[in-house]
Amino acid sequence: MKRGRHAGDKELYSMADHEIDLTRTYDAIVVGSGAAGGMAAHVLTSRGLKVLMLEAGKKLPIEKELRSMEWPYDNANRGALPPDRHSLTFNEYTIRNPPYAPGFEKSKHLHSYVGSTDYVKNIVVDERDNPFTGTNYAWVRARCLGGKTNIWGRLALRLSDYDFKAKSHDGYGEDWPISYSDLAPYYDKVDLYLGITGVKEDLPYLPDSIFQRPTKLNCAEITLKQGVQKMGRVLTQYRAGVTTDGLKHNQYRSRCFGRGACERKGGCDIHAAFDSPTGLIYPAADTGNLTLRTNAVVREVMVDPQTGKASGVHFIDSETMRDYNVRAKVVVVAASTLESARLLLLSKSRLYPNGLANSSGHVGHNFCEHVMGPGVTGQAKDLVGKPSTLDDGRPGGFYLTRFRNLTEKHPKFIRGYGFEGGSGARMFPEGTDRHGFGASFKEEVRKNQGSYISMGAFGEVLARYENYVDLDPVVKDKWGIPALRFHYKFGDNEHRMAEDMKETAQEMFEAAGFNIVHVNTRTLTEGWSIHEMGTARMGNDPKTSVLNQFQQSHDVKNLFVVDGSAFVNASCQNPTWTIMSLCWRSCDYLADELGKGNL
Ligand SMILES: Cc1cc2nc3c(=O)[nH]c(=O)nc-3n(C[C@H](O)[C@H](O)[C@H](O)COP(=O)(O)OP(=O)(O)OC[C@H]3O[C@@H](n4cnc5c(N)ncnc54)[C@H](O)[C@@H]3O)c2cc1C
Ligand code: SF4
Repeated sequence: MKRGRHAGDKELYSMADHEIDLTRTYDAIVVGSGAAGGMAAHVLTSRGLKVLMLEAGKKLPIEKELRSMEWPYDNANRGALPPDRHSLTFNEYTIRNPPYAPGFEKSKHLHSYVGSTDYVKNIVVDERDNPFTGTNYAWVRARCLGGKTNIWGRLALRLSDYDFKAKSHDGYGEDWPISYSDLAPYYDKVDLYLGITGVKEDLPYLPDSIFQRPTKLNCAEITLKQGVQKMGRVLTQYRAGVTTDGLKHNQYRSRCFGRGACERKGGCDIHAAFDSPTGLIYPAADTGNLTLRTNAVVREVMVDPQTGKASGVHFIDSETMRDYNVRAKVVVVAASTLESARLLLLSKSRLYPNGLANSSGHVGHNFCEHVMGPGVTGQAKDLVGKPSTLDDGRPGGFYLTRFRNLTEKHPKFIRGYGFEGGSGARMFPEGTDRHGFGASFKEEVRKNQGSYISMGAFGEVLARYENYVDLDPVVKDKWGIPALRFHYKFGDNEHRMAEDMKETAQEMFEAAGFNIVHVNTRTLTEGWSIHEMGTARMGNDPKTSVLNQFQQSHDVKNLFVVDGSAFVNASCQNPTWTIMSLCWRSCDYLADELGKGNL
């Protein structure tokens, strides 16, 4: 049956609320509904498998949360968090230790730094219910249907063999068991199914996608592009996971209207920006092969003691606290990199005393992400006093691609980084260095507002065995489930890279002729990038890796972990497009193997 967007929403909502049939054995259980879980549901249901998706959070009426068209003056708090809530600041992450909730008793709800607006307050978790311990970490979680894809930053980049074969390039770490050529057809499928905007650049280290209509660079961005070109560096339009031309095969999404709300508020209520529910889960439900159960916190993957295979999962209803068991032929874990590692570690049994899929001892280890913080704000003098233009009506500004350790070797660090940035007039003037009050102040702000340009770096954090997560022996979450404990710090390579980010950011702005207004010198807290990877890495050797190239457990052949856990290294490119491409490839393999009776 075909459904319109709103009808589909309603049906899926009620479907999610209903008790599910727990007496049957599903072909596959998918744990989690974000980028990875959504993609698994799409691929498996379209291959005819009967799939049960279990999502720990609620199905939110997301358009009512995001309210993309709401003007600041129509919001009681001008868009800020209501006074009974608090979101953690950089200083609080720095001077306190996790769990972060103690000390914030005056606030009814405590959120990560991302939860700082009225529009995302119900999307991100309450830190009080979801504690973690160990080293400082700005862990951003979204427990609701669609997970973090409801508010992601949309930058959708491919990895290349500079990443997949990084060890062959510089000797550090491990190569992936796949090459770019293995994944390229799946990147293409993701591009065509979900839509992506950008411009072809033909760069060996940042392969092009199959792009829809690109957005435009504005004046200062073009000046920067020309400035860095002279240095052999490349600035390109933001490659956004957004459909600018529309998608004929998807009735739940609209083409981008260029309202810029995704940038200002962190989400798109007409779903031009990819999110997992409208991009993947509703179409999967339309096949008739998907059963969705929200409020289902998976506590453990169960194992058949006779065969050693996964037999299903045990979950807790997040509202009633009731326990349930449900069976499947295959279990697909897609709870996000850190939660997936937690679930594997929680799934201890007589057969698997160190946790499931963990004979190598690598589950939770080799944890990596992106280091960020250093960046620069400048001013294009020739734009001061020019009339205002509509510059923020687009889903992103620019991406300045990696340039370190490609053809030359940097003496102080390995691997690389790229910059995300933007410029121009915005609803709220940004980057202003003006001070004062009254009419003269307003005049100053108006005169200068469109002339600022800024960018910040994202760099590869090396995957190291010593950076890991395990289970806290004491602290538990609201559902009585042991919390995750972090043992994770940036290393020397990251610190040296961050030094270089600061220098090159300034050098490029100077080359473009901008006045430097401000240089961000601090490195943000671990976790700030929200790009977690590597806790169940793939590889050919079961002694040093958790999964094979199809994200299938070496130990338990009917168990797959299809999110960022499988990454062997972080590269410096944002991970979501790669997570979904890998997941598509693995789920194709899963369906083939299940069909052959091999699982
Ligand atoms: C503000 C922000 C900006 C970002 N910007 C970018 C960007 O520009 N580019 C990019 O590539 N990436 C970006 N990301 C990261 C991107 O959102 C993630 O890479 C992507 O969502 C990962 O997908 P996932 O399925 O692994 O995890 P998630 O999207 O987090 O989904 C995991 C789901 O699993 C559920 N779950 C967890 N534990 C359990 C359990 N025990 N039982 C049942 N369900 C469970 C969660 O509730 C959640 O819904 C950004 C993220 C944020 C928050
Ligand atoms: S700019 Fe496009 S993607 Fe962003 S909120 Fe507007 S319509 Fe959505």
